[in-house]
Amino acid sequence: KILLASICVAFLAVKWTAPSFDAESLRGARVLVTGASTGIGEQMAYHYARFGAQIVITARREKVLQQVAEKCLSLGAQKALYIAADMASESDPDKVVDFALEKLGGLDYLVLNHIGPSPFSMWEGDVEHTKWLMKVNFFSYIQMAWKALASLEQNKGSLVVVSSLLGKMPSPFVAPYTSTKFALNGFFGALQHELAMKKSNVSISICTLGLIDTESAMEKVSGVTSVPAYPATDAALNIIITGATRQLELFYPWFTHILTVSKDWFPSVTNYVIQNSYNYSP
Ligand code: NDP
Repeated sequence: KILLASICVAFLAVKWTAPSFDAESLRGARVLVTGASTGIGEQMAYHYARFGAQIVITARREKVLQQVAEKCLSLGAQKALYIAADMASESDPDKVVDFALEKLGGLDYLVLNHIGPSPFSMWEGDVEHTKWLMKVNFFSYIQMAWKALASLEQNKGSLVVVSSLLGKMPSPFVAPYTSTKFALNGFFGALQHELAMKKSNVSISICTLGLIDTESAMEKVSGVTSVPAYPATDAALNIIITGATRQLELFYPWFTHILTVSKDWFPSVTNYVIQNSYNYSP
């Protein structure tokens, strides 16, 4: 108990000493948010809009993007443009970054957030789906990051990668999804080192999220687990603040940080908890 209490105090101390956020710094900021037609990406678009940013949003469904962009303008965005794209395509990730660079005249923030739909079920050998998901959830991220890097470097910009607790801690029913998030953490973790060693102007923030109450997530887990879900709008705001304050990592909700540590320190207990947090009988 004493050990657990000390860990909690240490984590809270880290949270309280985080750099302070200046909302004004986002006024006029040039931002590209992916996966912004629904869920956390949509909420991020609205927050950036309220802060007076210039935004480009992308996802596959053009009609929905148009509605989100209209709402962004009504909330105060200086610009709100959209471009429909499929991140499984070879060329669309580049096309989207080119569009944002051209329309906004450069980028201050690239927020990589989209994910392709993936089943919530036991692994049944669908290799093709996993390859496809890797394209959408991983390869498109590194392609867009590379394409935007020169502009971010010029503008002392930030790259924000939305990842998951499942990118640090494997969990049942989501093997393909978990793999894509582990890949993201590995790749962008390495890039954080390289940029720091090169004394680059670009910051990379890797965001570890727990369960968030988006429609797609809730659809998958309802009736399967009683793990609490946290509000998408609050998760979105925390991601934005993490990027704006150039922090290396976000853990939202905060106890996800403790879970990642407990997995290494108390593996048997953590595995027991994970496997028993789902309603499943073979
Ligand atoms: P949603 O499923 O709500 O949104 C996914 C977004 O990606 C949509 O805008 C969707 O739009 C877009 N998208 C899907 N497929 C493609 C594609 N092939 N090409 C381009 N865009 C695509 O996701 P969440 O908001 O729940 O999650 C957002 C991020 O947060 C993800 O990175 C996720 O891993 C992370 N996260 C979420 C958690 C949660 O519990 N919700 C927990 C941990 C992490 P469209 O269909 O129009 O293409």
